[in-house]
Amino acid sequence: MSTTDIWKKSLEIIKGQIPSQHFTTWFKPIQVAAINETSLELEVPNRFFLEWQRDHYLPLIQETIKKVSLREYSIVWRIGKMAVQRASATISPSAAQTVAVERVLTNTTLNPYYTFENFVVGKDNQLAHAACLAVANQFSNKYNPLFVYGGVGLGKTHLLQAVGHRVLQRINSTKICYYTSEGFMNEFIGAMQRGKMDDFRNKFRRTDLLLIDDVQFWAGGKGRTQEEFFHTFNALYEANKQIVITSDKYPKDLDGLEERLRSRFEMGLIVDIQPPDMETKVAILQKKAALDSIVLPDDVTHFLASLGSSNIRELEGYLAKIIAVSSLSGKEITLPMVKEALKNIIKDHTAKSLTVDKVQKAVASFFNINTADIKSKRRLQNIVVPRQMAMYLAREYCKASFPEIGAAFGNKDHSTVIHAVNKVRRLVEKDTEQRKIIASIKNLLDKSR
Ligand code: ADP
Ligand code: MG
Repeated sequence: MSTTDIWKKSLEIIKGQIPSQHFTTWFKPIQVAAINETSLELEVPNRFFLEWQRDHYLPLIQETIKKVSLREYSIVWRIGKMAVQRASATISPSAAQTVAVERVLTNTTLNPYYTFENFVVGKDNQLAHAACLAVANQFSNKYNPLFVYGGVGLGKTHLLQAVGHRVLQRINSTKICYYTSEGFMNEFIGAMQRGKMDDFRNKFRRTDLLLIDDVQFWAGGKGRTQEEFFHTFNALYEANKQIVITSDKYPKDLDGLEERLRSRFEMGLIVDIQPPDMETKVAILQKKAALDSIVLPDDVTHFLASLGSSNIRELEGYLAKIIAVSSLSGKEITLPMVKEALKNIIKDHTAKSLTVDKVQKAVASFFNINTADIKSKRRLQNIVVPRQMAMYLAREYCKASFPEIGAAFGNKDHSTVIHAVNKVRRLVEKDTEQRKIIASIKNLLDKSR
């Protein structure tokens, strides 16, 4: 089979495996830029497209090609001529790999886009950003390890890799090691099976900077991996090497993590990333668009930011889709065009969004009070706080205006709602306990969707 046939045949198989709309959006625009015995280079319209492909379809593409050709290809994407007026940069993951091959140990490629320059700082992530930047600019005993935690798609991997990029730029001789916790485990198991534990240990222990992504993966088992990492950690720590770790949870909340590892994680500085607010989301969307030399109309940016997702990867997905549609159809990006392009997503989203009533019930049951009290005018402290929290959550979860929320809370004035929302927002920022309460209720609400 000729090499181009391999791609054609793979596409046919992929087409049968994913919804046709996804196929049209994410596979039709791809062109094969080059293919040889070992690698397949795909040309895609823009950066967002590239990232979406990589995050969602890489395993599918690799598996399919392997099935068709009976061999492994490495996949390289490049941003193509199709969008040349928009994307001037060419990303070739393999280039990043070869530049740094001797200084970077990694189970995956460092994404050339994940730099501090491309990271938008908002109040939700400023502490994490500042801490990562500080460590990248100067390794620090005080901040060792630096432990960054936060929800999915909020920028942990981006920041972690930004530290890597900055250190590589700054010191010519440093060796850095970026591993996902899963990659670390796989390599550890492989080394054990091949009887190459010494090589494994030496490799990790000769780095100056250890970046480990997503350690929550180890919680709940993976005992020997945790043990091995514990020793790696100690060896590096004692040698004053910098360690940065990310996780989706605070160390204490990582059930199944060994106690001694947990206490190591708590030795340095722990910082969190909170879900982005409207302003941060808008700023990120503008930045992403600008990187593709696209100016988004304000109404479009606000519309996207208001779609309710706090997962930035998801926002990028919307943007990718819009840009893809625009560059394929030649249509200008306008609000009606965007609404049309995202029709299905919006439908899903509204189906998923909650009613104020549901929010009130969830909050009432969490605090063990009556829903009627939440809507009443009673001023008891044990009712006022839950009421304000319910207003805050209603604002976040329901597509309702301040007056609408006021009406749903026993005809309260919209200024009362604004006051409550601001008050709870400040509370959540300052007070860990309150933040935890809100997070627990959000958890309940997310499950009930
Ligand atoms: P996590 O590792 O927390 O799940 P990622 O670091 O993978 O999240 O981020 C998801 C996507 O959102 C990435 O493409 C990243 O570049 C982008 N992103 C997240 N936060 C920001 C930010 N503050 N500025 C710019 N891009 C961001
Ligand atoms: Mg990540």
